Amino acid sequence: MRVSAKPARKLICIGKNYAKHAAEMKSVVPAEPVVFLKPSTAIIGDGEAVVLPPMSTDVHHEVELVAQVGRRGRNIPESEALSHISAYAVGLDMTARDLQAEAKRSGHPWSVAKGFDTFAPLGAFAPAAAVSDVQDLMLTLAVNGEVRQHACTRDMVFSVAQLIAYCSRVFTLEPGDCLYTGTPEGVGPVHAGDHLVCECTGLPTLSVSVRAPQ
Ligand code: MG
Repeated sequence: MRVSAKPARKLICIGKNYAKHAAEMKSVVPAEPVVFLKPSTAIIGDGEAVVLPPMSTDVHHEVELVAQVGRRGRNIPESEALSHISAYAVGLDMTARDLQAEAKRSGHPWSVAKGFDTFAPLGAFAPAAAVSDVQDLMLTLAVNGEVRQHACTRDMVFSVAQLIAYCSRVFTLEPGDCLYTGTPEGVGPVHAGDHLVCECTGLPTLSVSVRAPQ
């Protein structure tokens, strides 16, 4: 069963939420969640194309579990956090790695590296009730048929419930807000003509192509 997505509001994204990915980025596991935002204009759907921005020569795939907020809340206790999620999908946090590395060096925000149009592919949502254990889902990403990322959501540093609780201390969470929960290890570059297929246990598959700007 699928549910239609509510109009997206905030795209709240989490960095370094899998220890092996933090390690491949030569970074450490954070003591608190690393939070950044993407504009909703970055969203594309299944079957659409990621457009490589001319400002970058190194765009990476990051497959992630996405939770959609169904109920408004702030200062949500961790014990109630999952009841605020109405649906789950698989998504991609596309990242201009060269621009992100420069931003990190300069102490600047990641908004440009993460926020280009088409940089938030989002699959169709399945109702949260269809997911029995959100911390026991397999995430997989294949590029041109070759698996590049394959990991279990149990390896998250901060659980989905912990992330919802934490983020709700910062932002009021509203229906339609989407939480990108971080990527596991295996990120890497994409090129024009590539075909990406993202899967997560029990959720609709997300397929996108990659193309050069016209
Ligand atoms: Mg990410």
